[in-house]
Amino acid sequence: MQESELIVRRIKEGTVIDHVDGGKGLKVLDALGIDGKDGSLITIALNVPSGKYKKKDIIKVENRFLKDDDTNKLAVIAPSATVNIIKDYKLVEKRRVSLPNEIERIFRCSNPDCVTNSSEHIESVMDVIDKEGRVLRCRYCSRILDVNQLKYR
Ligand SMILES: [Zn+2]
Repeated sequence: MQESELIVRRIKEGTVIDHVDGGKGLKVLDALGIDGKDGSLITIALNVPSGKYKKKDIIKVENRFLKDDDTNKLAVIAPSATVNIIKDYKLVEKRRVSLPNEIERIFRCSNPDCVTNSSEHIESVMDVIDKEGRVLRCRYCSRILDVNQLKYR
C-alpha cells in the first residue's frame, strides 16, 4: 500500500476519488454536493505528495457511489482523477474519468442572454469540442465556455 493511502482511513462502502489535482478537492466536493449533511463519513486529504513535484487531493466518501453526472463533473474539474468504488472494504471498480461528447444539465451557460438562462426552463446542453483542452460550447448560443468558470445548476 502506498504511503498516501494510509493518510485517510479505509472505508467500508463508498467511493474514493484519487488523483484530484492538488487544490481542487474542495471544488470537487462542492460540485458533487458532498457536504456531510447526511451523516456519512467523509475524509479529505489535501496536498498529498504525489510523485516528485506534484501534489494531489484525495476524497473518501462513505455510502455514496458516483453517478454519470458526477463523473462528468469530475472530468471537467479534475481530469486526472480516478474513481474507486469500494464495497466491503474491497476495491470492486476503478475508473478514470473522461469527458463525454456532450454534457447536459449540470453546468450553466455563462451567457446571460442564453435561452437556457431565461425563464423558459430549457436545460443546458454543451458540446465538448476539445477533450484535451476541455473546451465546451453551448449548443444554444454557441458561446465557447471556459471550464474554470462554469457554474453548476
Ligand atoms: Zn448558451
